[in-house]
Amino acid sequence: MREVPAVVKRPLVDPCKEVLQTAFRLLPWPTEAGLRRIGEPDETSPVLLTGNYDLTVRRLARALDGCDAWLLVAPSRGINVWCAAAGGHLSTHQVVTALKTSGVAEFVNHRDVILPQLAATGVTVLEVFRRSHWKARFGPVSAHDLPAYLETGEKTDAMRRVRFPLSDRLQMAAQWGAPTALVLGGLALWLRPGFALPLALLVAAMSVAIFTLYDRMGNARKLVFGIASVAAASSITALTSSDGVALLTAAVAPVFITMLLTFDYAGSTPLEGGSHFEERKWRITLDPDRCKGVYRCWEVCPEACFEKLPNLRKVELAHDDRCIRCGACVVQCPQDALFFQDADGTRIEPDVIRKFKLNLLGERKVSAAPFE
Ligand code: SF4
Ligand code: SF4
Repeated sequence: MREVPAVVKRPLVDPCKEVLQTAFRLLPWPTEAGLRRIGEPDETSPVLLTGNYDLTVRRLARALDGCDAWLLVAPSRGINVWCAAAGGHLSTHQVVTALKTSGVAEFVNHRDVILPQLAATGVTVLEVFRRSHWKARFGPVSAHDLPAYLETGEKTDAMRRVRFPLSDRLQMAAQWGAPTALVLGGLALWLRPGFALPLALLVAAMSVAIFTLYDRMGNARKLVFGIASVAAASSITALTSSDGVALLTAAVAPVFITMLLTFDYAGSTPLEGGSHFEERKWRITLDPDRCKGVYRCWEVCPEACFEKLPNLRKVELAHDDRCIRCGACVVQCPQDALFFQDADGTRIEPDVIRKFKLNLLGERKVSAAPFE
């Protein structure tokens, strides 16, 4: 019998760590993988799995305060669940390995594990069952919904859908703004010290503006945002100084900062699809004849693109305009009823998506040749 794992206690609010890890989220923050106790779990308590990203583990434990559960931390290279699953670092292999090596089976009398919904791009539940005999299901998107989900066993529409609330937007602003302000402010401190503070403030203001407004703007948003920022920075500089170099910097810097802060905007929120594959116009496509109404696609889609048709035991792609091409539904469909198809009818088959951990969210170094 293994030693009972340590309880995760509540000193999980560590202001210094919280600030540091929020501002430098672009770096991996690994925590020890393995089994942990939340509260006083027994053999019937639920088993929850997450990646070994320190910030997530602490926030998860905080959200579960008052619950009794087993928390299995799987190695994900210290990266958050969404990025690790999409990038192939939290996959079926890591989940099966964690289930088999953590000893969790010795502490519970069931074989049910709850995975984070945003791991659905990388972890195939059928494969987890085949290789470990654990039944995996996907819990809610947000850790805050876990207590309600554990109590009712029901995943509501709101629990399935990804949101980008103000608190998350400000964290993303800090994630991109802090390192950018440090680099630009540091450079200015070295070359022209008087510019350091104004440049750092400009970056801070632009980060907040980009992450609160950018995805709500139209197609020409980069241009509109760049022009608005140049106009604002130049006007403020002109009002406070007549230095020609300062004015030139105020005219040029916002363009550069906009490019820097938005180049991976899609990677900062599961709300937005990547634009790298736009030219192929890949669309999520459903073959209704193959669909058998298992509803896994409905369970994992972060944009709630599917509607159930219970009378027919099928789904329909009722909101495909919201699709961000994450591939989660394709990976999970046991009938291979979902695939990506481009305007010419060329398909990316589900097995290719699963095998190469290929999603269309960001730039991936996978040749398009096999699909042509
Ligand atoms: S598309 Fe696939 S996962 Fe979705 S309901 Fe049909 S069979 Fe199930
Ligand atoms: S690929 Fe599109 S439809 Fe499928 S889960 Fe992702 S967002 Fe939903």
